[in-house]
Amino acid sequence: MPLALYNTLSKQKEPFEPLDPNYVRMYVCGPTVYDFAHIGNARPVVVFDVLFRLLKNLYKRVVYVRNITDVDDKINTAAKENKENIRQLTDRTTEAYHDDMNALNALPPTREPRATEHIPQMIHMIEELIKKDFAYPETGHVLFETGKYKNYGALARRSLDEMIAGARIEVALYKRNPGDFVLWKPSHEDEPGWDSPWGRGRPGWHIECSAMSAAYLGEEFDIHGGGIDLVFPHHENEVAQSCAAHGTERMAKYWLHNGHLMVDGSKMSKSLGNFLTVRDLLSEHQGETIRYALLASHYRQPLDFTKDQLMQAKQSLDKFYRALGDAGNFSVDLPHVEPDSSVMEALLDDMNTPLALTHLQNLVTDYNKSKDPAVAAKLKKSAYFLGILEQNPKNWFMQSVKKETLSAEAVEGLIQRRNQARKDRDFKAADALRLELDEAGVLLEDSLEGTKWRWK
Ligand SMILES: [Zn+2]
Repeated sequence: MPLALYNTLSKQKEPFEPLDPNYVRMYVCGPTVYDFAHIGNARPVVVFDVLFRLLKNLYKRVVYVRNITDVDDKINTAAKENKENIRQLTDRTTEAYHDDMNALNALPPTREPRATEHIPQMIHMIEELIKKDFAYPETGHVLFETGKYKNYGALARRSLDEMIAGARIEVALYKRNPGDFVLWKPSHEDEPGWDSPWGRGRPGWHIECSAMSAAYLGEEFDIHGGGIDLVFPHHENEVAQSCAAHGTERMAKYWLHNGHLMVDGSKMSKSLGNFLTVRDLLSEHQGETIRYALLASHYRQPLDFTKDQLMQAKQSLDKFYRALGDAGNFSVDLPHVEPDSSVMEALLDDMNTPLALTHLQNLVTDYNKSKDPAVAAKLKKSAYFLGILEQNPKNWFMQSVKKETLSAEAVEGLIQRRNQARKDRDFKAADALRLELDEAGVLLEDSLEGTKWRWK
């Protein structure tokens, strides 16, 4: 069965046919690194990781690019609040992001360009847009003139007027039309900035993705992905910039978007108290449990993330690992085992992960009846494409016990006692507490702001 994907551009499921049959190119918008990733940030990472695994199985060469946005007003604000140097903040949060996504079993993308390392490419692209009369400089800013690009709105399928009315678009004196968007803006002395033909300034967010995708994937590539909230204005603007600058008809052949994520029935917000960082979730759950809960709904559906779902995910994984543990060591033959055809068919049909998980559960039922290690091997081999069952079963159950016996509060308590012991210069006691935490599987990270921790 060939791979079929739902394309936001055509609003239908289409057979996947890459521009070059031997080389697949995919770009997914990455995080703005100013704080810990929340569970909503993790959804596209996990969804496109499943696609990356499938593509790598189908094609000789797959290049997956996911950027890091490390220049943004949110970063400037956070750095000021933390009294932290910007590069320190973005390095620290990028590292935390890598750790968290790694804990969710997401493979690293082929390339992960940082926006600040591609400023010359962005400036060059903006110059092209001005030369071709799609953009205009105005008092230190450069703006894209949306009215000049005839296909504007084709991805979001809305007229320019509707889009302007729907989005909270800033009306500003330097804009010829309210729908025009910023390619370049001036920087104050205390803000990060680069010299450009329009003065010292910094790029707008949209141009970053256009410049970085072109740098690594070319002017046209196969798949562009991200969350549904990025369709407008971010992706619409990316298409306009890229196509106008390169004189192409399309930027990407397939546009894929994952649905919204809510927590306990509401939009996640710090004030509602339902704001979940991946880091916090990892203190109580294994990464695989979180990943399973994210994949238990179809990626295009909105997902309401709840404790119940995490519990169900854990129970299913326990069942899977029990079967694998019971089947013993069959890993020697694993490279030659074929994945289950029903699981693969479900995944190839627009990544139907809930159906694929149901088929995995059927394999467990089969195994429990037959006790045939070949069935268990098939289970493990098929689960790879969902990025689960990658641990040794013993380790899975050991980690589960750890998370259940030592609560996050208990860990915090031990850390506080250790910090007090250090303050009192009772290093013997501090060392003993550190050892106790270490044995419980807690990794401590001491820094100037205090002690942070995570499960090993
Ligand atoms: Zn983007």
